Amino acid sequence: EALEPEERERLLSRSSAKYYSVVFQDLEGRLHERILRATNAGELEEGFRVDGYSVGLANIEDSDLLVKPDFATLRVYNSPFGRTAFLVGDIYYESKPLPYHPRYILKSVAENLNFEVLVGFEVEFYLTRGGKPADSGYYWSPIDNTALHAIAEILEELSSTGVEVRSAHHEVGPGQYEVLPAPMSPVAAADTLLLVKKAIWSVAAKYGLKATFMPKPFTGLPGNGLHLHLSAHKNGRNILSEDGQLREEGLNFIAGLLANARTTALLTNPTVNSYKRLVPGFEAPVLVAWGIGNRSVLVRVPRGLKGASKTVEYRLPDSSGNIYLALTAAILAGVEGLEKRLKAPPPCSENAYRLSGLEAIPRTLAEAVSLARQATLLSGDARKALEMLVASKAEEWENYLKATGASPDSTEVTEWELEKYFDR
Ligand code: GLN
Ligand code: MG
Ligand code: MG
Ligand code: MG
Repeated sequence: EALEPEERERLLSRSSAKYYSVVFQDLEGRLHERILRATNAGELEEGFRVDGYSVGLANIEDSDLLVKPDFATLRVYNSPFGRTAFLVGDIYYESKPLPYHPRYILKSVAENLNFEVLVGFEVEFYLTRGGKPADSGYYWSPIDNTALHAIAEILEELSSTGVEVRSAHHEVGPGQYEVLPAPMSPVAAADTLLLVKKAIWSVAAKYGLKATFMPKPFTGLPGNGLHLHLSAHKNGRNILSEDGQLREEGLNFIAGLLANARTTALLTNPTVNSYKRLVPGFEAPVLVAWGIGNRSVLVRVPRGLKGASKTVEYRLPDSSGNIYLALTAAILAGVEGLEKRLKAPPPCSENAYRLSGLEAIPRTLAEAVSLARQATLLSGDARKALEMLVASKAEEWENYLKATGASPDSTEVTEWELEKYFDR
């Protein structure tokens, strides 16, 4: 719910925010931010002009866009420069929303469903010092306390901004952690991921650490996923499951995710580095299969959950790209499964890293680009966004090969990637 201007003013003066920060993601997932002193808040109502060409959202010959904050997203947090009111911006062309901006696309997708989708995301990241993991811990016993102090403050900070964190724990890699906020509507989940990233970067910096969400920052160590826990609800009922068991609709939804995973990987895994995560042995998916309690496959149905909290976990995405596009792809895929009543294959109960004969997740960004060209899932403005991304990603791949001289199927993480994606 958007706050009335007076309520907003009250909230801001109570929280003593000194600055406003209006953020938005471009198609690539780069975060753009405009800082204003709180005393200049008047400017916010009108929005402010941006060079749409430089953020990859418009042609140079017609590049004036407007960023207008969505006041429903207001959260006060501690940025590196003090108490800051965080707002997510929508992009306008003249007086209308820019129809192919991903936040607008996701909003339209969610509004047009005749049920409600909830999204819980698990965001994984490394805390690093001097480019190396900041602790040597495993699961929940870090040796170096600095990282642990930072994590405690991250949890404190998120809760004070109003983000309810369901769980947080040390992940498998040294210095690797994971935070899982409570499920939300799709646009709110995407907005929240942006705030969570900003808050984590900010707290980490206080401890002399750098946080990275890059899909595979270190060759040979686990990558950072962004698992999506999806569920669909109507009239207070979870339509994908009942009494802790998947319903037929749950199987249809899973089949939709499987059927579209390859052609939409460019949206869920949009960087050169994304594909270095998707290799056997690190609990990241490499084959198109699903299972119950199976962490080697693309879709896992967690055991033991019941009722509204029973979810379908889509394990492919990472957080290196535009989160609104990733969620659009995942939701449309599941919905296609529901609408076409797609049949899911039997669940896989094997270690998928030892299987063969199943369809494979793309192995490189180049493969994801060519599969995306054949995608039938997206139409209209979403299709246009995808086509723009296809063009820039084809170029990114060429640049990578040229700059590094790497062989196309190399799984070694390069300096070029660290430079480009470490802070994304
Ligand atoms: N880090 C793994 C990935 O890349 C997931 C590990 C886990 O959550 N158990 O997706
Ligand atoms: Mg987890
Ligand atoms: Mg995890
Ligand atoms: Mg998970």
